[in-house]
Order: sequence, then C-alpha cells, then structure tokens
Amino acid sequence: MDSKRIDKLYNILEEIRNSVDDQVTKQLELDKCKRVIHRLGSFSSDCEECLQHLIYFKNHIIQLNDKREHLVESDFKQHKKTLGDIRSHLQKRHKLVTSGHYLSIYMSMGISLGVVFGLVIFDNIGLGIPIGMSIGLAIGSGLDADAKKKGMII
Ligand SMILES: [Zn+2]
Repeated sequence: MDSKRIDKLYNILEEIRNSVDDQVTKQLELDKCKRVIHRLGSFSSDCEECLQHLIYFKNHIIQLNDKREHLVESDFKQHKKTLGDIRSHLQKRHKLVTSGHYLSIYMSMGISLGVVFGLVIFDNIGLGIPIGMSIGLAIGSGLDADAKKKGMII
C-alpha cells in the first residue's frame, strides 16, 4: 500500500480523535493504531499477511469513523480483537515486542534467581531478591531501550 493511502488512514484516525472524547480515544488506543498502521505499511510490500491486515484495518477504521458518534460496546470489543490479531502477527512473524516486554521477563527471572542465590549464597532470601531484581531491571530496561532504538516496539 503506498504512503498516500497510509497518510489518508492517519487522517481518518485524527478525524476520529478530534470528534470523540478522551475516554473513547483511550479505549480505541488511537496512538497504538497509528503505530500498527505504520508497521503494517512498512512490511506490506514483503508480507502478504500484513497487506491483508492493512486492508482489513483500513475498512475497519473507516467504519469506526462513520459511526464514531454512536460507538457501542461491541464496536470496542471488535476493535480490540482486530488490534490483537494484528499485533500477534507482528510479534510472531516480525519479532516486534510490546513496550516493557523485556523488563517484565527479566524482572521475574531476576526475582527467581534472586531467591535461589539468596538461599544458596547468603542463606537469606530477603537479601537475594533485591539483588536479583536490580540485575533484572538493568538487563530488561537495557533491552527495552535497545528494542525501542531499533524500532521493534509495537
Ligand atoms: Zn506480516
């Protein structure tokens, strides 16, 4: 899909943002939608599935915009599912991660290792946990920052 059509999609998102209240903006995760469109756009020349997702998402956004004043619970649910499907494709196929992905992995790993080391080395769980946590925090936030720099966050 060419960049003009992507820009048009961005415009529709802005139209929605300008006409609904903050709570709806939040529920629709419009910033996330923008990132998703950007990613799909950049992968769609090589990935048929991204192209399909992008076409589907475009129609979906247009529909949302048409009834933006009358959105009901099922619209939000469908929106969430649509975004979820796309994100799981981007994560699985294109190795994108959610913000804070590495932090949560390494924090929990750090805590479990902290428990083990605390018991084995210090004979004190209370001492091991904070050490494990700070190591997990350092590694996880470093990897998150790196992923962000490489544009791998979705
Ligand atoms: Zn793809």
